[in-house]
Amino acid sequence: MAYIYILPIETGSTYWMEPLEKSIQRAFGYPIKKISRDISLEKAFDIKRSQYNSSQILLQIIHDPPKDAAKVLGIVNTDLFIPILTFVFGEAQLKGPGSLVSLHRLNNKFYGLPENGALLTERLIKESIHELGHNFGLVHCHDPKCVMRSSTYVEDIDSKSHDLCQRCRNTFIHEKRKA
Ligand SMILES: [Zn+2]
Ligand SMILES: [Zn+2]
Repeated sequence: MAYIYILPIETGSTYWMEPLEKSIQRAFGYPIKKISRDISLEKAFDIKRSQYNSSQILLQIIHDPPKDAAKVLGIVNTDLFIPILTFVFGEAQLKGPGSLVSLHRLNNKFYGLPENGALLTERLIKESIHELGHNFGLVHCHDPKCVMRSSTYVEDIDSKSHDLCQRCRNTFIHEKRKA
């Protein structure tokens, strides 16, 4: 039996965990397990940008995964970047073993708006399913409601659903059979 592992990294509160687990399980059909690992955010901190190098954290996440892991999803609460972009909501390699998502720019607080836990949870679910979708071989989709549509702004995340469109779902099922 393979599991999708969720690894919160210094996120503080994890009130979003239960709905996140349920949604990921519903989207991909894998049971979920939680793990904790010693991941150093410090190591990924870039002093000049005052942000955290997403790829560096992802490397730590996919290092030595549990034997029964289908995928590992790390969640942080720090601002992430990759060198060619000002920021990223998350990162995953196509057909890779793991994903990373940050709560930082999904939180209304970042935009000077009142905090909204339900909205933050919904955004986290969409971004997590999106990044895991890349891990399962899905590329960006042009269907405006599909969770695999790419998001530049948080408004883009809000305007899509947390579901795979039929085409992406078929691709996922096809990839899963091959695996
Ligand atoms: Zn993407
Ligand atoms: Zn799609």
